[in-house]
Amino acid sequence: MRILLIGGGGREHALAWKLTREEPGLELIAAPGNPGIAELGECVPIGVTDLDALEALARDRRVDLTVVGPEAPLEAGIVDRFRAAGLAIFGPTRAAAEIETSKAFAKQLMLEDGIPTARAEVHTVVAGAKAAARRFGAPVVVKASGLAAGKGVIICKTLGDADAAIDDMLEGNRFGAAGAEVLIEEFMSGEEISLFAITDGIHFVVLPGLQDHKRLADKDLGPNTGGMGAYLPVQLGYDADREISANPDAAENLVFEAAREVFAPTLRGLAKRGRPFTGLLYAGLMLTKDGPRVVEFNCRFGDPETQALMPVLDITPRLIDLMLAVGRGEPFAGFPVSVASGESRAPGSARISMVEVQGACVTTVLAAQNYPETPRTGDEIVIPPAEEGVFVFHAGTKRTDDGTLVTAGGRVLAISAVAPSVELAQSKSLEFVERVRFAGKQFRSDIGWREIERQHQQAGARATRD
Ligand code: AMP
Repeated sequence: MRILLIGGGGREHALAWKLTREEPGLELIAAPGNPGIAELGECVPIGVTDLDALEALARDRRVDLTVVGPEAPLEAGIVDRFRAAGLAIFGPTRAAAEIETSKAFAKQLMLEDGIPTARAEVHTVVAGAKAAARRFGAPVVVKASGLAAGKGVIICKTLGDADAAIDDMLEGNRFGAAGAEVLIEEFMSGEEISLFAITDGIHFVVLPGLQDHKRLADKDLGPNTGGMGAYLPVQLGYDADREISANPDAAENLVFEAAREVFAPTLRGLAKRGRPFTGLLYAGLMLTKDGPRVVEFNCRFGDPETQALMPVLDITPRLIDLMLAVGRGEPFAGFPVSVASGESRAPGSARISMVEVQGACVTTVLAAQNYPETPRTGDEIVIPPAEEGVFVFHAGTKRTDDGTLVTAGGRVLAISAVAPSVELAQSKSLEFVERVRFAGKQFRSDIGWREIERQHQQAGARATRD
């Protein structure tokens, strides 16, 4: 079997690792790939939005399936194009991808179809946007509607900050076309959780929830980044009285609630609007006092969540089979979807399966000097010898002409460690991270801290009870 994987980051390295592990004879081609992926397959230097070259590559090499990592080629319509050419591809069409690429579209769908989310208004004129900010009151959130590389969301503590953000986007052209339409949104507080569902458009499999860490520094301080780490499992949900609760049952119920109240109606809503979604739908949820609310949708796997999920994901059918089915347009119904631990508990048309994981995984991202502003590149990287249960995923790395591995981007490597608990996985990841060498290396030493704190609190509560 031959698969073309589009992308060259840590997410794609983790997917490459998983797919080649599930199917040892797999011939993997990546465009553009990276030095880590190069150890698992062939890397071809084609950019992720060069659709002509990608289509020619898929045809010439007769690939059985193309898997799309990042959102940019989806927004550019790679799936529409490959399908029209009769090429199997895993991902949503351009119209379905708007669930991520147009926050205005996503919000409208959620509001019309009763999917729980923050109240918001869409504006293109400064005066209207500022008036909306006043109706909501501070704190308020200003968002560029289009793709802005994770930088288009401004949490405004004061109306002054909101006015400045609105001016910046609508008049200052800060995010170009992506910011020509803004959302003014109610501020929500609570913990966040990321959930992934793989879907053929009708059936879906929900993968275990994860938490990522967007801030650069420990204790969630410092500037926002693309993500400094992620972990699972996240033992968090609601109890019968609707109070936030930290235990495995609450966590399982939360996944079912998200399946019923978020994934099923969103997939139905997209299909109803003539944009059936196939591929990976990512829901970022805020666990508010009033229940889970959607913060955002993404139309592809998360980065760095994928680097934490792949090492512990063990599903039947295999990920590769689910991707092939989606790619070929074969509904999952033909599969023995045996991953269910409570299949069909949801009313409505969508059939839900849920996957559980054994153990924990913590992913610590190693970033370059001056990340996230102006990351320095070209620093030599030395990676210690491989270790059982530790996975080194490349993101911003490259090999120089003489074969030296050097930094080539903001996020350089992701180190994922698997262990029986989040606490043990965190120390195992850190122990390895500390031995990776490159000048100016930055990382957080507290990935998974919320879960570790929860586990300690529970142990404390148990000790007091006993
Ligand atoms: P997004 O790109 O929509 O995921 O937003 C990035 C981050 O901004 C989210 O992960 C949240 O931490 C935060 N955020 C977005 N919308 C809100 C909101 N309405 N209230 C509070 N925080 C938000």
